[in-house]
Amino acid sequence: MRICRYVTKAGRVRMGLYQPVEPGRVQVIAGDIFSDFRVTEECDEIDRLLAPIKPPTIFALGFNYGKHAEETGARMPTVPVLFMKAPTSVIGPGEKILLPLAGPERVDYEGELAVIIGKRGKNISRENALDYVFGYTCANDVSARDWQMDKERGQKGQWVRGKSFDTFCPLGPCIVTVDEIPGVPDLKIRTWLNNQIVQSASTRDMIFDIPTIVSELSRSMTLEPGTVILTGTPEGVGYTRVPPLFLRPGDEIKVEIEQIGVLINNVDLERS
Ligand code: MG
Repeated sequence: MRICRYVTKAGRVRMGLYQPVEPGRVQVIAGDIFSDFRVTEECDEIDRLLAPIKPPTIFALGFNYGKHAEETGARMPTVPVLFMKAPTSVIGPGEKILLPLAGPERVDYEGELAVIIGKRGKNISRENALDYVFGYTCANDVSARDWQMDKERGQKGQWVRGKSFDTFCPLGPCIVTVDEIPGVPDLKIRTWLNNQIVQSASTRDMIFDIPTIVSELSRSMTLEPGTVILTGTPEGVGYTRVPPLFLRPGDEIKVEIEQIGVLINNVDLERS
């Protein structure tokens, strides 16, 4: 099942089936997608798509693809390297990524597969981990590299601040439920900047696969339904390039994951 969240022409926020019954119209989903829901016969006209989930928590992994760890000069991780993004950073498909007033110069893209947790769990075994996954969507772990890494902005840089600016977590276009992508996902993932491919890899290249990530995180904290986990970015990010490549006003950035879809956002400047 492919699930979207949207605003109706009348201004209501609802969930629906992503395959429109006809262009601009979707079948309404009633109930809570994490407990009891059903696809109704009712149809809505969509005004615009929203991020398919409003997560209570966003976890994210650093250095989870070997070639990305290499391009940054980082050591290969022996356990998942974890950080968080503020839930206020989430935007939907078609919404603008804003280069923040507090650091507009070195904002970078990171195309990623996002996992949506469907069931509360703690100390989940690797074998049972996929039972706790509701589905997947595309994500862009937008990062202000100056805040993330410059020592003058913190003792060793500040990952959470650099990755939590408003608009820095585009998600979408829809959630594809786990039954449609059984097993450990082996999906092509590509990022396009203004129609040029800047990242191209497969999710099978992750150092820690999704069952391992879910199991490992649940050894620390209870995972709640709706929690989003960004699973790391492949090689090809902007700041490691020569010359570096950063987002500029007017750019279009696309994250495409096979069997899930394409997440498109344009870039603009934050206004005071
Ligand atoms: Mg990332």
